[in-house]
Amino acid sequence: MSVLDDHIGDDDERIDAGVQCSACDAVCCRLQVVVMPEDDVPRHLVERSPRGLETMARGEDGWCIALDEARMCCSIYSQRPATCRRFVMGSAYCRSERAAYSDGMRRNIPVDLL
Ligand code: SF4
Ligand code: SF4
Repeated sequence: MSVLDDHIGDDDERIDAGVQCSACDAVCCRLQVVVMPEDDVPRHLVERSPRGLETMARGEDGWCIALDEARMCCSIYSQRPATCRRFVMGSAYCRSERAAYSDGMRRNIPVDLL
């Protein structure tokens, strides 16, 4: 299971300016996003595990339920969790997730790896 966290790519701070969200399938919005108590996320978009961990709910397609699929962007942008705010376009983590996603597409295997 892939979880959106702050640790992957810490040793690679390079930002690839050629990577643009506007030309991406919102790959990072397929990661499991932990919702913290200080986040102001609409509660109906949050799932709670039996152990009490709160995460953004995801649809059967694997994408976060808050994703506006028509525009492939966040429908709760001003209320998105802090973890999403810290995810940097073109960062090592971004590039890693995009590479894994496109690799799955190339090999024609299900991309829902979560
Ligand atoms: S941050 Fe990276 S993975 Fe997320 S939508 Fe933008 S380009 Fe895609
Ligand atoms: S809350 Fe918004 S930015 Fe965060 S994963 Fe969901 S759709 Fe993406």
